[in-house]
Amino acid sequence: MGLTGVMLAIGDSHELGANSHTNNKKVIVIGVDGMSPSGIRNAPTPVLDSMMAGGAYTMNARGVLPTSSSPNWKSMVSGSATEQHGVTSNKWQRDKFVLPPATTGIEEIYPTIFGLAREQRPDLKIGAIYDWKGFGRLIERSALDYDGYQATGKEELDEDETIQLAVAYIKEEQPDLLFVHLDHVDHAGHQDGHGSPHYYEAVTKADRLIGEILEATKDADVFDETVFIVSADHGGVGTGHGGESLDEIEIPFLLFGSGVKKNYRITTQVMIYDNAATVAFILGLTQPYSWIGRPVKSAFE
Ligand SMILES: [Zn+2]
Repeated sequence: MGLTGVMLAIGDSHELGANSHTNNKKVIVIGVDGMSPSGIRNAPTPVLDSMMAGGAYTMNARGVLPTSSSPNWKSMVSGSATEQHGVTSNKWQRDKFVLPPATTGIEEIYPTIFGLAREQRPDLKIGAIYDWKGFGRLIERSALDYDGYQATGKEELDEDETIQLAVAYIKEEQPDLLFVHLDHVDHAGHQDGHGSPHYYEAVTKADRLIGEILEATKDADVFDETVFIVSADHGGVGTGHGGESLDEIEIPFLLFGSGVKKNYRITTQVMIYDNAATVAFILGLTQPYSWIGRPVKSAFE
């Protein structure tokens, strides 16, 4: 946070109330579509291995049903389950759904961490850069200072462009909350199967790209105040996902960085919707009554 940010934070502190604590912590959530725990175990992943050795993690976190992308990304950022946010399939659109959201926030969708952060700490720099354009419909884009798609005006991004944008944004703006989404591992799973050489190569590439994000925070001199969270929306079986098997629903959940325990295996249950609750906890936000996610406090010193 620059000087202006610090002054804003001090000036705003009286409005934050007793439930919030103003701090300088930053959070970068990296979501890798379809990156299963077995993908991390079986593919060479030197960066993730070092983050696990220096951080806190579980390879037995769970997504929600159905094990499709949209319901799970929505749960990850909204601290809630499918029945609450109503994103029941990839067919979901803002104007086309079966189940309406149980509640709404700053936009006419179920509230996410982005809207929450904007409401409670207007001073925060918030960005989302996502390889899969569909992610954007799930969140309050009006809460963002930076949106990879808006910034480039492109119709498509790939994983390399996504990371290039993220690296540039981190270096230029030192965001307080940044979500980075990578899609290529899921593509490899659908093409050649989970557990195929192509799939493992994609996981190794994700590992390298995550390393570039870490390096960018060092270049921007914000590494020491940043908490990194790496997770996924679902795993897979064969060339698909969407079913009810453990291979599809189990996901990695890894925390690394400022205030996070080192070489700590999280043994409590972690659900995908605990992700948003954990981000809220780190940023000192009060989560909405409707959220059922809980911060994974055991991961912190
Ligand atoms: Zn997915």
